[in-house]
Amino acid sequence: MRPIRRALLLCTLPFFSAATFLYSQSLNTNFARDPQQSVDQSYTDHIHKYTTDPTFTSPLVDYLPASKTVPTPAKVLGDVSGAPDILPYAEDVYKYFRLLAAASPRVKVYTIGHTEEGREQIAVAVADADLLKDADANKQRLAQLADPRTINFDDTKARALIDQSYPIYYITGTIHSPETGAPTALMELAYRLAVDDSPYIKFIRTHMIVLITPVVEVDGRDRMVDIYRWHKAHPKEKYPDLLYWGHYVAHDNNRDAMSMTLDLTRNVLNTYLDWHAQVLHDLHESVPFLYDNTVGDGPYNAWVDPLLADEWAELGWNNVAAMQNFGMPGVFTHGDFDTWSPGYLMFLASMHNGISRLYETFGNGGADTEKRILDPEEYSRTWYRQNPPWPIVNWSQRDNNNYEQSALLSTIFYFSQHTHHFLENYYSKSKRAVQKPKLEGPAAYVIAPDPAATNREIELLKVLQRQHVEIQQLSDAATCSIAGEKRGDKPKQETFAAGSIVIRMDQPYSRAADALLDRQYWAPDDPQKHPYDDTGWSFTHLFNLKIVRVTDPAILKASMKPVSDPSTLAGKLDGSGSIIAINNSGQISLLSAVYKLKEAKIEVAEKAFDADGKHFAAGSLLISGAADKVADTLHSLSLDGTRLPAAPTIATHEAKAPRIAMMHTWLATQTEGWWRYAFDTAGIPFDYISTQTAAKQDDLRSKYDVIVFAPVGHGSTIDIINGLPRWNNPMPWKKSHITPNLQIDDDGTDDIRPGLGYDGLEHLRTFIEKGGLLITSEDTAQFAIETGLAPGVSLVPKADARVVGTVLNTTFVAKENPIAFGYSGNLPVISAKGMAFNVSNTLGHSGGRLLMDPYAERPTGRGSLEENDEPLGRKAVEAEKLEKTQPWEAKKLNEEQMRNNFSVIPEQLRPEVILRFNDSKTMLLDGLLDKANSIAEHAVVVNAHLGNGSVLLFGNNPVYRGETIGDYPLVFNAILNHNHLQRSKPSAPPADNQKPSTPDSTSKPAGN
Ligand SMILES: [Zn+2]
Repeated sequence: MRPIRRALLLCTLPFFSAATFLYSQSLNTNFARDPQQSVDQSYTDHIHKYTTDPTFTSPLVDYLPASKTVPTPAKVLGDVSGAPDILPYAEDVYKYFRLLAAASPRVKVYTIGHTEEGREQIAVAVADADLLKDADANKQRLAQLADPRTINFDDTKARALIDQSYPIYYITGTIHSPETGAPTALMELAYRLAVDDSPYIKFIRTHMIVLITPVVEVDGRDRMVDIYRWHKAHPKEKYPDLLYWGHYVAHDNNRDAMSMTLDLTRNVLNTYLDWHAQVLHDLHESVPFLYDNTVGDGPYNAWVDPLLADEWAELGWNNVAAMQNFGMPGVFTHGDFDTWSPGYLMFLASMHNGISRLYETFGNGGADTEKRILDPEEYSRTWYRQNPPWPIVNWSQRDNNNYEQSALLSTIFYFSQHTHHFLENYYSKSKRAVQKPKLEGPAAYVIAPDPAATNREIELLKVLQRQHVEIQQLSDAATCSIAGEKRGDKPKQETFAAGSIVIRMDQPYSRAADALLDRQYWAPDDPQKHPYDDTGWSFTHLFNLKIVRVTDPAILKASMKPVSDPSTLAGKLDGSGSIIAINNSGQISLLSAVYKLKEAKIEVAEKAFDADGKHFAAGSLLISGAADKVADTLHSLSLDGTRLPAAPTIATHEAKAPRIAMMHTWLATQTEGWWRYAFDTAGIPFDYISTQTAAKQDDLRSKYDVIVFAPVGHGSTIDIINGLPRWNNPMPWKKSHITPNLQIDDDGTDDIRPGLGYDGLEHLRTFIEKGGLLITSEDTAQFAIETGLAPGVSLVPKADARVVGTVLNTTFVAKENPIAFGYSGNLPVISAKGMAFNVSNTLGHSGGRLLMDPYAERPTGRGSLEENDEPLGRKAVEAEKLEKTQPWEAKKLNEEQMRNNFSVIPEQLRPEVILRFNDSKTMLLDGLLDKANSIAEHAVVVNAHLGNGSVLLFGNNPVYRGETIGDYPLVFNAILNHNHLQRSKPSAPPADNQKPSTPDSTSKPAGN
């Protein structure tokens, strides 16, 4: 599709801004243009016309040099970069870069991969023709600096390589699709770098290679342009927010640098490392007018080389100073972005010995010029923002493009003047990464062989491979010393068996592995009170693995060999016989097997059994039929199997491939997008339906066994039911001639405004009552509670507990429940804000807890805390014996409380706690936890019952950012056993059987 075009109007009145006049006499001649080179006057006039204030430009971008042979962006756009009303599709951006490459030997375009929806991603290299011709040899030289093992850590050789090499500065645009300015800014930037003969530009292109990916999130860019076109075609109407950016997630595509699930993340890192770039500079838009968060704020990530922190300071403050020199207001580098989490795209550079940078410029989410009214915190003067943005501003996309280009050009020029310095640092950081075991430790991370964990371990090793981390496997057993768990504990000797996986820290990208596998601690009194993202993420915990951090360098001397394909570590089939048994040990692919082997008969063992000398846990699969296909399937799913001559004599139930609907709202789709990603990757099919579909279908049960209602992200119950306000125009989300890219599948709508509605809620209720399973998490769990779909479950008021994306330890309560199949011991979960549940044997919202715990407190009177008070003047009457209930348990009801109490939930319908938080002393694994008492030991996963069906509630998000592999089986177990989720056993003696109490000793239940 073509972009919105407007003819390039020739401006007859040349526009000379005050700024142009002043800058021509500027003291600073660094950026003076070449007076011999003619200017493209028409283009220049339009730049001036669209710049809303003379201070919103700089001497670097307030003109465009002319070229007789090289086309300007106007050739494709029909007007200048940043012109109002013009937002090009990715293919038009690419078209321009390819025209540029065809016309100039200083530009080359490379395809670097494709997106989930098959759209191309490109990188554009710009430099002097000689440098580009030498690019491959330059890559070879940089590769040696990147891996100093190749030159035996010989600094003399390194110096020679540095002398001959050109650094690579990699700029990435519009990862966030509503942040729209970067592609046109980068088109013009590339033209300037290729054409301009200003001494400073010549210096840049003869000293370094600038690499540009103009559109990182290509799927989202095209949808954003669709939305903008719809808006321009319906100028008086409200237009929808961009509901789908990428295929799966929106803003979180910039939180994917740890697990690297998305194609865009993998393509950018592969490109970055293929070129051995020194900087990854990602362009965003949100903060006025330009926040270079290169300096940001603490706490800094604890796994980066200290040299990097100095490079951040050097580049950030220098960049702000240059912009001050140009007189451009509202530019700063210190600010509230902390550099703790390594999840941001730019941070791929920090974890791979480069420099990460990020600009937030000001943008209008499209190409309209708008009056913008800032909030006081945005325009106030602070110590680090002495020249703050204006409180009210008329802002254009051209202003945005001026800021982005001026800042980039000035910082690239600074970089080009210090190429030796930055290449030396690059070499030093790479060298120190390989010397890590000697310099700072640890020496390695080691994973001992454990068949029960191999399936999840393979998932972790695949992540490390995507991070370009080398993986080894011990050929023989190795013994080394292991540090004690706590400060001051004595080290102990540990022997790792042959076959143990070793992630050596004497490799170039050791920091990437170290940051993922280590633990994180965020002090509750840290001066940073607003963590920017998750405070904990240890993949050791989130993948539910046992990984040993080894500081003893002896491990590195052990005999080991590289592992090139981790998937070969599992997928074996041994034994003989016609029944194939797969032990359930919390693998993520048991449910997938049921879909892949539809023609086979698959049964789930309801109890543990022993066969062929092996132990099989409850929940293990027994497969018969389709024998020829099973071996390949198990191999592809990394599942080990054992052939048995006969089926074990235990209770089983059949595992038929359940019919799943994934239900989304039209409020937001990102958080559920991570669930779609996990299901698609596992090969688990589902119908993707909206709450509007549920509202229309009165018999959901006839179509589905399971409805997954993954978190909305910011959905209140009333928003889920009501949808968006309906006092404006309908807002469609579907394909049309002006919105050809909008839908991600068949699920479109003429109007995104209606929500689930009360009809939809009733349809959900009927679905559950007829035996369906509804899976909910975080805000949709709250929705289930608040709409009466989860009788007996309420939210724990979390008081002053502080949890910010924290990894917390949990304990299984209903160990026999199929949801817990394959698990033993504790399970780490990541909790966004500490959501926890109370359960009650009655309907009500307080959880039915007693206000006074007779075991912890008593009124003033005779005796001790443990004894009864005995009032005088009457006989002593023994009080009803109160059974101690744990924080995760429902309070038991006595005879008084049961009498004619129609709120009492029948026993088989009472909610069952699957998982609870540990006590406050052992609850924290990684990140920030403060004042945990109100949530400690409370339920975090609960299975509630309604009619013949179940509602599974997660207080955590078990399918999150591709990071929570250890928790996936909770969801998959529930789906696989969806019709066997009745209460596993009564959790306590039934309340009804309790012995009668004397009438004067009752304590009324609180609340209810
Ligand atoms: Zn952004």
